[in-house]
Amino acid sequence: MKKKTQLIHGGIVGDKHTGAVTVPVYQVSTYKQDGVGNFAYEYSRTGNPTREALESLIADLEGGHAGFAFGSGMAAISAVMSLFKSGDHIILTDDVYGGTYRLMSKVLNRSNIEVTFVDTSNVEEVKNAIQENTVAIYVETPTNPLLKVTDLKEISAISKENELLFIVDNTFSTPYWQNPIELGADIILHSATKYLGGHSDVVAGLVVVNSQNLAEEVHFIQNSVGGILGPHDSWLLMRGIKTLGLRMEQTEKTTKKIVEFLLSRDDIETVYYPGIENHPGHHTHLKQATGFGGMISFDVGSGERAEKVLKETKFFTLAESLGAVESLISLPAKMTHASIPRKRRIELGITDGLIRASVGIEDADDLINDLKQALDHK
Ligand SMILES: *Cc1c(COP(=O)(O)O)cnc(C)c1O
Repeated sequence: MKKKTQLIHGGIVGDKHTGAVTVPVYQVSTYKQDGVGNFAYEYSRTGNPTREALESLIADLEGGHAGFAFGSGMAAISAVMSLFKSGDHIILTDDVYGGTYRLMSKVLNRSNIEVTFVDTSNVEEVKNAIQENTVAIYVETPTNPLLKVTDLKEISAISKENELLFIVDNTFSTPYWQNPIELGADIILHSATKYLGGHSDVVAGLVVVNSQNLAEEVHFIQNSVGGILGPHDSWLLMRGIKTLGLRMEQTEKTTKKIVEFLLSRDDIETVYYPGIENHPGHHTHLKQATGFGGMISFDVGSGERAEKVLKETKFFTLAESLGAVESLISLPAKMTHASIPRKRRIELGITDGLIRASVGIEDADDLINDLKQALDHK
């Protein structure tokens, strides 16, 4: 099956009891047993048919062994981090999602899980960070908001050589453009709140694993810790995923036009987009993904100017989050990345004037004119 067909026909399709062509919302907590211990489902934290349909769909889309759905991206990431124990060391991409940085540096540090943040786009830095107690490498590519690209095959080789677990947050590219398990990853994470849901109406997280062993471990944690996704949100997510291909194709077309517009202006310092040929990760991204996506960041020079621009846009809604049908715009320094200390933020290149845009599926000319009037506003 090609990706676009798999989005519709992957996973569990329809309902075997009624013939319904979509999987119904099994809004239920417990199930009647035919004699003690004789059941298909026992309790909805442990298993629910609607959630299971979503979980098998994401496993198919990522080419993995099994999928798991959680109440948010952070719940999914926390569940995967529960695989580790006190004294373990994990290497992470230095400009990971702000919430992931906060989880590692302010919550998991309490359990003595040691972390090192490195520029994973530089293989040497990753190799040098490996210690005796290193157990995993955790990568985001492209990153948020600078869209730095890490070579997944190279990191996979290093992980295998050192018997480390290789974890990839694939939120930005989605399984439509990039399949990290095929490139050697062991675990894939998604904030399904973003492109997979796609309509700014559901918060969810997904995990995909590449082996039966990991599937058993993650299911044990999902059931023990309990951060599951409910049946209605699971259903909403499946509904969103059906149009993922159409949305990704459309957003990329429009994004390329917006990038051209931004590059043509001399009052913008830098435009970050992996589709630009001189973007440092352009060639690596082309090797491992089939599209560049709909995220752009650009530096307008100062925080003061950035805030003015954000106040003036009409079709780009000032909001956190990304990957929706509506275009969203934000100021990472004061929003998504505010929990990173300023000094470290500037070191990473997340300047005060850096604007991040998530391009939706509105008309491209309307979006360009919207940015133009906002940038020209005095
Ligand atoms: C949003 C996001 C998360 C966190 O997901 P939530 O659904 O908000 O909990 C994790 N990783 C990336 C890359 C994200 O963009």
